[in-house]
Amino acid sequence: MEEKKKHSLLIVDDEKTYLMELTKILSPEYEIYAAKNGADAIQTALELSPDVILLDIVLPDMDGYEVIYYLKSDERTHDIPVIFVSGLTEVDDEERGLHLGAADYITKPFSPGIVKLRVLNQINMVEQLRRIEQLSMTDQLTGLPNRRSFDERLNAEWRQASREKKPISILIIDVDEFKNYNDTFGHQQGDRALQALALAFDKAPKRPVDFVARWGGEEFIVLLPLTDYDGSLEVAEQIRRNIEELVIPGSSGPESKITVSIGLNTWRPGDEFTLDKFISGADTALYNAKDKGRNKIWHFI
Ligand code: GH3
Ligand code: MG
Ligand code: MG
Repeated sequence: MEEKKKHSLLIVDDEKTYLMELTKILSPEYEIYAAKNGADAIQTALELSPDVILLDIVLPDMDGYEVIYYLKSDERTHDIPVIFVSGLTEVDDEERGLHLGAADYITKPFSPGIVKLRVLNQINMVEQLRRIEQLSMTDQLTGLPNRRSFDERLNAEWRQASREKKPISILIIDVDEFKNYNDTFGHQQGDRALQALALAFDKAPKRPVDFVARWGGEEFIVLLPLTDYDGSLEVAEQIRRNIEELVIPGSSGPESKITVSIGLNTWRPGDEFTLDKFISGADTALYNAKDKGRNKIWHFI
């Protein structure tokens, strides 16, 4: 079977010869999708999210300028680089294309080598952006999604829960007496403990929709879409127990044990509270869990 290519291109051209020629030049390197008019181009871009779009300007239904205008005004396609490949060779045409947000402009007839390199430039740019985005979403110490990443996901899941009228739960997990742990074993060992904890969260029964993140400091957060109070209590209990039993590499003795307190909150269809209240409720519950002696789970009523 042919190996799956890493990047995909959408080539938009109404002239078969150009379409074939561009496909011939680029298909050894890339997965190719083709469109012969503007409407198809937009549809394919939305459905298949190509990494780069090569766009002709003169098309049968709408022109390439209109197509790029649509692509740039929809957040789902906004970030896909567009290279115009056009027979229009006037400076004004190129300027208009770049003004509308095109990443590059190639004139026909083109040289295969230049087309390949200009596409590669855009692919490299896309890769770089993805790396930066990945970094900006990840906590460096634990490798878990960070708070920023969590907030994005939380907003999306919260909207979906209200729309579909399905319950959603949240756990805020705070390490007990972690200052003592740091004071006893040193900050570096504290860091190792946080890494071990992050790994332990993965052992709890998880469905692909559950989302764990580092909330900050020694606090973690778990989002449980489609989960009611009973279900979330089960997950919380499993996490609490896993961590209680966790042996943290590099520390020993009675003080080396780590426990967590967990604040839990569930939104059910019909509950009249906001997202802020959803979070602050879990935080209040966490405060209660601490107050009741730590290594406990508390639910916001
Ligand atoms: P409590 O049971 O009330 O939560 O007590 P605590 O000591 O855990 O709470 P407190 O908020 O007083 O202290 C949190 C500690 O967590 C202090 C801080 O140095 C430590 N901490 C936060 N982030 C990190 C980190 O990235 N690495 C290490 N090693 N320690 C951290
Ligand atoms: Mg804390
Ligand atoms: Mg703490």
